[in-house]
Amino acid sequence: MKIDLHSHTFCSDGVLSPTELVIRAVDKGVDALAITDHDTVAGLAEAKESISKQQLPLQLINGVEISTSWQNFEIHIVGLNIDPTNACFLQQLASQQQRRLERAEEMARRLAKSNIPDVLPAVLALANGAALTRTHFARHLVNIGQASSMNNVFKKFLGRGKIGYVPNSWVEMAQAVQWIQAAGGEAVLAHPLKYKINTKWLKRLLADFAAAKGDAVEIISPQQTPQQRRDLWALCQQHGFSASVGSDFHQPTTWNELGKNLYLPDDVLPVWHHWPLAQTAKGNLSN
Ligand code: AMP
Ligand code: MN
Ligand code: MN
Ligand code: MN
Repeated sequence: MKIDLHSHTFCSDGVLSPTELVIRAVDKGVDALAITDHDTVAGLAEAKESISKQQLPLQLINGVEISTSWQNFEIHIVGLNIDPTNACFLQQLASQQQRRLERAEEMARRLAKSNIPDVLPAVLALANGAALTRTHFARHLVNIGQASSMNNVFKKFLGRGKIGYVPNSWVEMAQAVQWIQAAGGEAVLAHPLKYKINTKWLKRLLADFAAAKGDAVEIISPQQTPQQRRDLWALCQQHGFSASVGSDFHQPTTWNELGKNLYLPDDVLPVWHHWPLAQTAKGNLSN
């Protein structure tokens, strides 16, 4: 049973349509997939419809990835099994989209001051109605030759403290947990090792996530070593979190794939232990 609970479509900064994504998931042997676009649930309806029309053997988990603020860091909280029609939740996500738009305007102003003009219209065109992300800025800056790779754009312009970086004003982490749970979902701390914080801060983050009544932590990302998985699980157990797994797939690359390398050790309590899915998954994952 392959389960992947973190992925993106072109409704945020992925490149595949929801239909293309679910077809790829089946092709890669994934049995259950959460689509977790940045601050939007816009891709879920199309994915659901394609699965049903084409009778794909794939269980879709309604998801989202919310950008949040915690102690001046940007922390991503994934919501799983949220109700994508919950009016209050949709309003809350709309407020995040508004912050994304305002941030994009400010980013473009800052880049213009550094002699990179007219970025906003190009980014809006690239996004084509999707959630506006730094990835769209990065693609544009690579397209116009300002950097040689996406990674270099972040290093040069868009990473924390760089000229195109605008300090965030996202929803507070604890508030985002409440949004997700009020919409019927479970809150998962995404990719905890990606925040460039030391162990002391990571422990603080987990303690605050527990105080906010967060449900699970993504202990499995494809890049993490078995030792990192074990260490994260040990920290999770101190707080009673369950464990989630996700590729954070954005587009086909040589280093990441849907459902790939998401092995969950036997002794771990998966976030899906009480979902209908658990009857077939039995808490065990292999590739
Ligand atoms: P945002 O949520 O708009 O701040 O954009 C963050 C997104 O940028 C992340 O979800 C990643 O997809 C992407 N990203 C962040 N850092 C890098 C990097 N170094 N190289 C490529 N993409 C990145
Ligand atoms: Mn992204
Ligand atoms: Mn993320
Ligand atoms: Mn993600």
